[in-house]
Amino acid sequence: MAALGAPLACLDLETTGGHPGYDRITEVGVVRIDADGVLEEWSSLIDPQRWIPPQITALTGIDAVMLEGAPTFREVHEALSARLEGHIVIAHNARFDLGFLREAFRREDVSFQPAVLCSVKLSRVLFKGVRGHGLDALMARLGLSCAARHRALGDARVVAQFLEQMAATRLEALLTACREQAQIPSLPAHLAPEAVEALPDGPGVYLIYGEHDLLLYIGKSVHVRRRVLEHFRNDHRAAREMRLAQQTRRIECMETAGELAALLLESRLIKERRPVMNRRLRRTQDLCTLAWTFGAGRPPEVVCGGAVVPGESYGAFRTAREARQALQRVAAERGLCDIRLGLQSGSGPCFGHQIKRCRGACVGVESPAQHDLRLAEALQAIRIARWPYAGPIGLREGGDEQSVQHVIDQWIYLGAARDLQDVDELLRQTRPAFDLDTYRILLRFMTDPQHGRAVRPLVRPAVSP
Ligand code: SF4
Repeated sequence: MAALGAPLACLDLETTGGHPGYDRITEVGVVRIDADGVLEEWSSLIDPQRWIPPQITALTGIDAVMLEGAPTFREVHEALSARLEGHIVIAHNARFDLGFLREAFRREDVSFQPAVLCSVKLSRVLFKGVRGHGLDALMARLGLSCAARHRALGDARVVAQFLEQMAATRLEALLTACREQAQIPSLPAHLAPEAVEALPDGPGVYLIYGEHDLLLYIGKSVHVRRRVLEHFRNDHRAAREMRLAQQTRRIECMETAGELAALLLESRLIKERRPVMNRRLRRTQDLCTLAWTFGAGRPPEVVCGGAVVPGESYGAFRTAREARQALQRVAAERGLCDIRLGLQSGSGPCFGHQIKRCRGACVGVESPAQHDLRLAEALQAIRIARWPYAGPIGLREGGDEQSVQHVIDQWIYLGAARDLQDVDELLRQTRPAFDLDTYRILLRFMTDPQHGRAVRPLVRPAVSP
């Protein structure tokens, strides 16, 4: 069971009834087990400060007399919490026990969110098609014993016996059922658990390497460790995640000030390092756009190789052919003039007007300005936006110690600055080329009202004579 990555705590509660909001816990029993077997058994009666219905007493044997002098949950919660911390908690019908526990901890203003397994659900998976998965049925089926049935420690011991017997006879099936139920990630066989534990909780970019330091995958997250574990949690469901888990040998992480920094760094690294399992991001130099200036009287032009002009460039196409096809689609859908769009040579009128495919700009049915206005409308959705500021801006991100200012101008990311001197240097340095992915990341981020408030105009440094 060491493969689950955390020790187990078999838990059982006795209560005054079935409603966590009203009823209270009268007894708790915990059996902690690790790879070597039972570590500790612990139980405590708990004064519920409530009347105990006679039918409950008839079932558990716990009555008001027994509970005289017992601690309240407030008095016992730290001892219980210390025993459950870092454990996967397993209970028979866990929803009931964990519902009561969460409510009890909530009343003490203590967060209680352990990984949970339910032994009823495990039994259903391990004994498919068999009827009866209550504790008595389990005991009868597997020959388990219980000296104190319906008492917390007695029942917790039965759950522990069930686990021990399953681990001894059907370990792989048990582990698979546990992992699937608790979504416990199965770490790659060649990756030390400490390597995952060392990953930060906060934002950053992670690089997953395979054999011979082959870079497999680059990802980003605002919760790096959680995201990396998700890759391995899914490894039985998605072929790609399974391949990733099988090939992983080491993970490197670069912490960032926040989500924007992580997005930008991830995008840059994927282009530079070309990991084998990432979707290939194309550099702007590899893409084509449509260049068109409203009112200039020229048709849109296909431009390949990174010459992007915000406000006058449209779309991002893998080839010149795709760009041209996109323009043809726009012409057909909007009834625009093929000749005015540069898709056909000649001066018109042509066949298009006769078959009512266009609105007859060449014969004055609509003016050139009306035609171009309709073209502008049609292209608006794929237009690369004009830079909305008079000059460069700073965009602050991160908490006090991690805080940086992202310096951006004309949708070009110049870098992250920690102080004014950094800002000055970034503004003086040679600018990288316009990059479409950076543009999209920045546009999304800056138009989000939550982040847009962090924008601050910056002054360009004076150019030395
Ligand atoms: S008829 Fe005139 S407006 Fe229509 S597509 Fe031909 S040239 Fe253009």
